[in-house]
Amino acid sequence: MGAPATAIAALAKTRTGKRIALATILFLLLLNALILTPLIAIPFAVAGQAVTGTIASGAPPMVSGEWGYPLAGRYTKGRGYGFNPVIGCGYCSTAHQGYDMAQGCGSTIYAAGPGRVITAGTYSGYGITVRIDHGDSLITLYGHMTTGSLLVRDGDEVTAGTPIGAEGNTGRSFGCHLHFEVSLGGRAIDPQPFMAARGLPLA
Ligand SMILES: [Zn+2]
Repeated sequence: MGAPATAIAALAKTRTGKRIALATILFLLLLNALILTPLIAIPFAVAGQAVTGTIASGAPPMVSGEWGYPLAGRYTKGRGYGFNPVIGCGYCSTAHQGYDMAQGCGSTIYAAGPGRVITAGTYSGYGITVRIDHGDSLITLYGHMTTGSLLVRDGDEVTAGTPIGAEGNTGRSFGCHLHFEVSLGGRAIDPQPFMAARGLPLA
């Protein structure tokens, strides 16, 4: 009586053990499908968006993760960050705080990342400007927009790709362009490595 009971118990234990092992394998496979596959698929998805974003006009800007380009498609690079005097422009700053990019007057400008609008209007030398607070003292600024083109207000929640206004020449500007500025802890940082770190290299 004692021996068969022990044997059954041992068998049951073994079956349970097998079931647990099988369940663990299935769980790991499911985990792999849910977590690892998207991680592998993301670079390809980004690459696919890069192609459509560059070729198609009027398409939304390329987005990588939570961040995207402030302009959709091709643009002309202007002044980069740092010492960049503008020849013939006495009032233009020599130590450039942002990254200039141009597509032409009136081109749509998009929020580069998720956050809350903290400025939507005239902002000193930047002219018509939008500033977005992304939290953790990270702020992006979009300067020199066309008068009357603003599509957001103070307090609006935006995500990457939300249209916010149009490229213009307001404020201390020397031709239509977008002045894209990124600041961390109240200090402007170079937007190029910042965007590159988010899979969005600037030209
Ligand atoms: Zn600028």
